[in-house]
Amino acid sequence: MTDCLFCAIGSGAIPAAIVAETDRVAVFRDVNPQAPVHLLAIPKAHFGSVAELAAVAPDLVSDLITEGSAAAVAEGATNGYRIVFNTGHDGGQSVGHVHTHVLGGRQLTWPPG
Ligand code: 5GP
Ligand code: ZN
Repeated sequence: MTDCLFCAIGSGAIPAAIVAETDRVAVFRDVNPQAPVHLLAIPKAHFGSVAELAAVAPDLVSDLITEGSAAAVAEGATNGYRIVFNTGHDGGQSVGHVHTHVLGGRQLTWPPG
């Protein structure tokens, strides 16, 4: 999709600190980290939300979780981490290309704000 920030990161057109990559997914550091480890895992193809991705390509949901989990541990979140898909307006999704946040490296609180 044109004018999509995460499509551009996935294709390499816009640089990001990529920590893991396959032919179909990329994992990179969030530019505004909320924890010592804060990664984003995306499919390189454009999907708007995790629900859309789950409906059309559920194997990619699995890939995001598998790659994001491995990268979290590799980046130092060896004591646990959190995987979250912010979805839609009330879910706090600000980039309209599905991504999972992978947060760790400190004790995370609950409930989220
Ligand atoms: P959302 O608000 O949609 O759940 O998450 C979007 C995330 O993308 C935010 O945590 C934000 O910091 C991150 N982000 C926005 N623009 C960029 C960018 O250009 N590069 C990187 N690496 N992260 C970005
Ligand atoms: Zn996109």
